[in-house]
Amino acid sequence: MKEEVAIIGAGQMGSGIAQVFATAGFCVRVYDISKQMLNLARVRIRDSLNKLHEKGSVTEPVEDITFRIDYFYELEDLSGCKIFIESAFEDFDIKTNILYKLSQYAGPDSFIASNTSSLSITSLSKMLRYPDKFLGFHFMNPPPLMDLIEVIRGFHTSDSTFQFFMNLARTIKKVPISCKNTPGFVLNRILILMINEAVCTLYDGTSSAEQIDETMKLGANHRMGPLALADLIGLDTVLSILKNLKKESGNDKYTPCPLLQQYVRQGRLGRKSKKGFFEY
Ligand code: NAD
Repeated sequence: MKEEVAIIGAGQMGSGIAQVFATAGFCVRVYDISKQMLNLARVRIRDSLNKLHEKGSVTEPVEDITFRIDYFYELEDLSGCKIFIESAFEDFDIKTNILYKLSQYAGPDSFIASNTSSLSITSLSKMLRYPDKFLGFHFMNPPPLMDLIEVIRGFHTSDSTFQFFMNLARTIKKVPISCKNTPGFVLNRILILMINEAVCTLYDGTSSAEQIDETMKLGANHRMGPLALADLIGLDTVLSILKNLKKESGNDKYTPCPLLQQYVRQGRLGRKSKKGFFEY
């Protein structure tokens, strides 16, 4: 019998992570403060599993996998889980508040990870009772399709916690890459700058959104253009990551393009709001 896993935050990443664990045979409890997001997660997971089942990349009956996932609106319902993965909004105060509350339900034998894209793992661990049992476990979007997980040790993370998560990543058929707790780790340190530069290229009128993406697909051999990728990530999340990287590194190169700020203020968040740089 595998350990029970709790996922905190049922957005696009939390629901995808829940799907990955359930597909690997784990029982999963998904928690969110929004009942609407919990309902959406249930639909999203079922639809995604149906597609993967049709393609043949998932062979177990979809109902058997979804049967292993439960949805909760009260944090105390996560009590008793062995593994906790926080995947709420990319906001330091929201995350530390969740981690502080989780400390009540996670005993010395439990492990806690954050799916943060840009926040310091050491700083996030300061509200935890057992900071040695905590690290960064950064999935890629969409989790069921992307192989990589960045595993980030904070200052207090113990060797056994690090090994536990490296093995866990392999158990769920992902490839773990270990990285230091530096701003943006590896992926977002590079990727987010490229996305911001693509937004600035659109903002200064160099080319259209379609042409910018086509240029990067044909000219740099990228599978997806940077603006379509920003829409997939969520423009609010891209903006939060840039702001966190600027704050954590003190480097102005992460200053968000005004167009990105403007879109987020207008609620134009990408795929999740059906409109970003493109319409969905
Ligand atoms: P999202 O906006 O789709 O979902 C965030 C979810 O968190 C929402 O359902 C919201 O209701 C929930 N939430 C907010 N406050 C909460 C609280 N106090 N308790 C419980 N749930 C709460 O965002 P997302 O794209 O799923 O991102 C989640 C995390 O994953 C962020 O830290 C982000 O940086 C990281 N991440 C995102 C991507 C990406 O491409 N979007 C990739 C890797 C990592």
